[in-house]
Amino acid sequence: AKRNANEPEFMQAVREVAETVIPFIEQNPRYQGKMLLERMVEPERVVMFRVAWIDDKGATQVNRGFRIQMNSAIGPYKGGIRFHPSVNLSILKFLAFEQVFKNSLTTLPMGGGKGGSDFDPKGKSDVEIMRFCQAFMTELSKHIGADTDVPAGDIGVGGREVGYMFGQYKKLRNEFTGVLTGKGITFGGSLIRPEATGYGDVYFAYNMLKTRGESFDGKTVVVSGSGNVAQYAIEKATQLGGKVVTASDSSGYIYDADGIDADKLAFIMDLKNVKYGRISEYVAKYPNAKFVEGKRPWEVKCDIALPCATQNELNGDEAKMLIANGCICVAEGANMPSTPEAVEAFIAAKILFAPGKASNAGGVATSGLEMSQNSLRLSWTSEEVDDRLKRIMYDIHESCVKYGTQADGFVDYVKGANIAGFVKVAEAMLGQGVV
Ligand code: NDP
Repeated sequence: AKRNANEPEFMQAVREVAETVIPFIEQNPRYQGKMLLERMVEPERVVMFRVAWIDDKGATQVNRGFRIQMNSAIGPYKGGIRFHPSVNLSILKFLAFEQVFKNSLTTLPMGGGKGGSDFDPKGKSDVEIMRFCQAFMTELSKHIGADTDVPAGDIGVGGREVGYMFGQYKKLRNEFTGVLTGKGITFGGSLIRPEATGYGDVYFAYNMLKTRGESFDGKTVVVSGSGNVAQYAIEKATQLGGKVVTASDSSGYIYDADGIDADKLAFIMDLKNVKYGRISEYVAKYPNAKFVEGKRPWEVKCDIALPCATQNELNGDEAKMLIANGCICVAEGANMPSTPEAVEAFIAAKILFAPGKASNAGGVATSGLEMSQNSLRLSWTSEEVDDRLKRIMYDIHESCVKYGTQADGFVDYVKGANIAGFVKVAEAMLGQGVV
């Protein structure tokens, strides 16, 4: 703890895992005496580097780039790249640590990593974004590779940015390999990858609801965020019969009592993915909706909540508000959106609660499928990828039930996900000796 005292998000993520995994280790001599958890919290390698680039005014800008190579026991490092001004070592180490367990849960052979920069894409021109991505990749290319470390997108990094980074990697290395996932469909991207995290989150919630004889049909759903994960969570929840009444961004949330149907979602996708606009513009187009500035959507009454924006966006008081309003299911689409107090409240109330490392694993799982297709030099159909995604989310749910079912039948998905994720990585580390 002393070593990482100035890294609060990393400490928070480790504490959550340790609380469930340490008691498990204490009951299982096989995992004792080998410093397994102690090794897992220490990244195998951290790369930090200068990213210098030239803006549209001809001025030189300097940002900081990172890649955390956390654990490669079960496969090449794998995890997204985040571009956001809040990016720092603590945030990326928390994300890389979570990624190790998440990737383990997917059943695919992927280790864990994460990277990014404190670069702020907001307000930048397309050419500035390209120059930045090229400058970032010029250094990152020395540390990654299709069999070593395979980055992907995350906050602030979508198809456009992945494409620019891929182009630069290919130029520098003179090789066309699956070194990044989330690529465009014409150069090795997988169908369903853009949809996968949001769809997977809803598939996971579907499996959870089923354990209580419930479904999305006729339910009111509250979603936060309006980026990649939120958009496809809204789409799939609606397709399964739910009514999604909110979306948000860092300026506030919109409430649409009539529900965000397919046409309205198409408007949000154009607004966010093409125009890079603000969610508040929704109410100018749909005057029946209202914009609530500077607030998060958890005060809206709902049956199901899908937090899909960012870390620590749902606190203990908000969790209690959701429970008091009758919410029966919370499935995290974002990474660690619920604070520890919120998680505690959900589990104490025994509602269905899924931590991101289980419920948002569909994105990285489909990235794993993209890697397989690239290696095979084949591309599978949407149906094929979607079927595999559904199967993987079902399997992750089963793993959580296996390790998380309590004496009274309540499934603690936090415990289940942590232990199931730990066991596979621990077995691989034991098999490979002390390295
Ligand atoms: P996007 O950049 O597409 O969207 C992020 C959304 O969250 C935007 O609506 C953004 O609003 C909002 N947001 C970002 N920072 C804040 C903040 N500090 N406060 C409030 N809102 C904020 O990212 P993704 O949809 O890809 O990622 C969302 C979450 O899902 C992240 O936690 C990410 O790590 C996680 N995740 C993503 C995966 C993927 O496949 N994309 C896979 C697994 C997890 P604004 O426009 O105002 O910035």
